[in-house]
Amino acid sequence: MSLPLLSQSRGIGNLVSRIGTIISRFGLTSGKFEKLLRKFNVITRNLDCVPTFPITAKVLQRNPKLIRKLSKNGVEFAIHGYIHIDHKALSFEEQVTHYKKAISVFQACQVPYTGFRAPFLRTNEDTARALSRLYFTYDSSRAVNWHVVHRAGHSETALAEYERLVEFYQAQSAEEITVLPRLNNGIVEIPVCIPDDEAMVERLGIKDIREMRKIWGDILQKTYSRGELFTIQLHPERINECQPALANVIHRAKIYQPPVWIATLREISAWWREKAEFTFDIQEQGTGGFNVHANCSDRAAILVKNGNVYAPAKEWSSGYQLVTDRDFRLESPLRPVVGVAPETCEEAMDFLKSDGFIVEKSERPEKYGIYLENLARFEEKDKRIVLERIDHANVTLLRYWRWPYGTRMALTVTGDIDSITLFDFVFRIYENWRQKRHNLDH
Ligand SMILES: [Zn+2]
Repeated sequence: MSLPLLSQSRGIGNLVSRIGTIISRFGLTSGKFEKLLRKFNVITRNLDCVPTFPITAKVLQRNPKLIRKLSKNGVEFAIHGYIHIDHKALSFEEQVTHYKKAISVFQACQVPYTGFRAPFLRTNEDTARALSRLYFTYDSSRAVNWHVVHRAGHSETALAEYERLVEFYQAQSAEEITVLPRLNNGIVEIPVCIPDDEAMVERLGIKDIREMRKIWGDILQKTYSRGELFTIQLHPERINECQPALANVIHRAKIYQPPVWIATLREISAWWREKAEFTFDIQEQGTGGFNVHANCSDRAAILVKNGNVYAPAKEWSSGYQLVTDRDFRLESPLRPVVGVAPETCEEAMDFLKSDGFIVEKSERPEKYGIYLENLARFEEKDKRIVLERIDHANVTLLRYWRWPYGTRMALTVTGDIDSITLFDFVFRIYENWRQKRHNLDH
């Protein structure tokens, strides 16, 4: 929920109706919200998935029993700030102080956490370092916007509201980047997909269940074809409106073959770290053959394209075979790896390795089926371009896949808990007002 936008961008009529909605969701006690949370959990349990709820520490402190009970029942929680303010405006030291205070609250309330999501999805260049200092494992604050809204069906005002939200979240366009976790200063940064429930219900004013289903269904389909990650953000207070869209997307995800990995944010972050340690040893044996040894965990997926493998393997997807052995012989006239020019920068090397490829710097392009040049500089938007080049190359290629158990993409369900009672709501308005005053004074 992005409250600062509310008063700036809406008319009085909208404000009154929004206050009505807020009162219908939050009560003086936690009763109303508890019902919504319980419903959320029943729905996700029936869909065989466990949600991750980032919660603001102050809100947890005011409602510890409810959250502790859910946590004991297996629901995952993460830290959503000590208070719900804009963390982009906080210095490194201020962030460390906030995170320390939040950690003490979580510890005192006996609610385990490993990760973080910034209020309003707003962070700055100090966030990863500050989180790393306090041993967080992940940060799920990076917004990615999918262009799946049928614009003709919405008023200019609604579209402008939506655009403003995308801008406020500093969302990058999914068409231009890879929607995948990435390691930054030891923190696994996990993207969050927009349109989320708030964008659909509050900004675009969508009431039609079919339209919500289509929006999330389209993101699922695009993510599947790219083999990436769909982080569904659904705040518990909108579970009633968005339940059919959530159920639809998960039912559809379960039909796909190769399957979709449905996991919590903590599981995704743990996998991303595990995967970062995998390596291959390859030894050329005579002409046209390599002995391969894979150093990896049991759930790793080894893929081979366009090459004969002397080991049990089955057809997987996109022309790849999934190899189950960890030691095998691979026939290939050229090295089954990605060759890069000597001037290639570390960022490009790290990205290719993190996506499961063996990368070799070399001055001899003729040894490689895939040989990449002009990578002395490498930016976020170059990732897609490079992956597409590798995808289109019709040569033998050996790699790890980016998801475990032979799955093709990953999906996770998460929703922030910013308030549980009306008191929490009022406190939040006050805290943001105080931060604005503070920023104006300094
Ligand atoms: Zn929030």
